[in-house]
Amino acid sequence: MQTVYFDNSATTKIDEEVVKTMLPYLSENYGNASSIYKIGRESRKAVEEAREKVAQILGCEPIEIYFTAGGSESDNTAIKGIAHSYRQKENHIITSKIEHPAVLETCKQLENEGFEISYISVDENGIINLEELKNAIKPTTTLISIMFANNEIGTLQPIKEIGEIARKHQLIFHTDAVQAVGNVNINVKELGIDSLSLSAHKFYGPKGVGALYVRKGVKFNKLIDGGHQEMNKRAGTENVAGIVGLGKAIELAYENLEEHNKRIKELRDYYVENIKEKIPYIKINGDMEKRLPGNSNISFKFIEGDSLLLNLDLKEICASSGSACTSGSLNPSHVLLAIGLSNEMARSSLRISIGKYNTKEEVDYLIESLVEIVNRLRKMSPLKLL
Ligand SMILES: *Cc1c(COP(=O)(O)O)cnc(C)c1O
Repeated sequence: MQTVYFDNSATTKIDEEVVKTMLPYLSENYGNASSIYKIGRESRKAVEEAREKVAQILGCEPIEIYFTAGGSESDNTAIKGIAHSYRQKENHIITSKIEHPAVLETCKQLENEGFEISYISVDENGIINLEELKNAIKPTTTLISIMFANNEIGTLQPIKEIGEIARKHQLIFHTDAVQAVGNVNINVKELGIDSLSLSAHKFYGPKGVGALYVRKGVKFNKLIDGGHQEMNKRAGTENVAGIVGLGKAIELAYENLEEHNKRIKELRDYYVENIKEKIPYIKINGDMEKRLPGNSNISFKFIEGDSLLLNLDLKEICASSGSACTSGSLNPSHVLLAIGLSNEMARSSLRISIGKYNTKEEVDYLIESLVEIVNRLRKMSPLKLL
């Protein structure tokens, strides 16, 4: 069997149609989008069309969309940019314990600069505690940054409720929606979102390109100084091909959203049901309902997640334990610890993220392989069963 890819939360395979749309901008259409001659104007037009597509899908205006080099840059720009811009007035920020490192490390950096950060906890399903959020608000609070969907356990946060709380207290609400965009319908105005991060490679677009939505009227300092690109908020010659690819990818994702989600969720549920039936001593992590359609995260007691990954790799199956950003380190996932797992159970977790290219045959192969691997590893495990 060829490579079987179940790590769609880490990145996705770029759609062939997206590649086709990008190609001219990597060859004959190489003009700088800021130049006034014809090939420059063509690049500008392509960039602005992509901006319009993103704005249309998020329910905002094109001038509220800034292109970046990906999700991490969008998170950094939003959080640092807003925090620094409003620093004179206020210096307290609220986030959650289960954010992606692009948010957590950014907040840590701000803490070093003297900002005060509150990290809200989550319940055993990974949903943030709204009461704790309300209670954390102080006169010095400026910004709330809570992710839309978690990258490890797939849980969806009560975004609309957070938006309402933010509005009531006149706070700015940023959300890292990198896992949600392409999987969930999002209207930033209806949800009360002031700022949102997205990244193309998580929805079958190219790597190294993302976007940041910032509502008109919300101030933020720029992260990259230099030329006047992106309404003077992000210097650097535009990644025209990447931006065109992002535009095409987001368009495709929302054209077929319901259809893809239904299929993906069916495959995910089929996988989880089979594992529940065939493998004892497991724990399913994350909320069963409020969850991304393709995500599953299961702890296999008495087994190291990394041994699972190595054995799956021998069968050409790509998956993840915790998140790709933390693998390679022995620290158990901060997300799994936050939902109350022991170190041991957190380290025995396997994330399977199903995407639009996965088939039932691949899922059957995954189930069969996992049953074999788990049985074998448990027989060898020094931690004897019962
Ligand atoms: C992947 C991811 C990021 C980082 O995006 P990049 O484009 O890889 O920089 C940020 N937040 C979440 C939730 C992610 O899943």
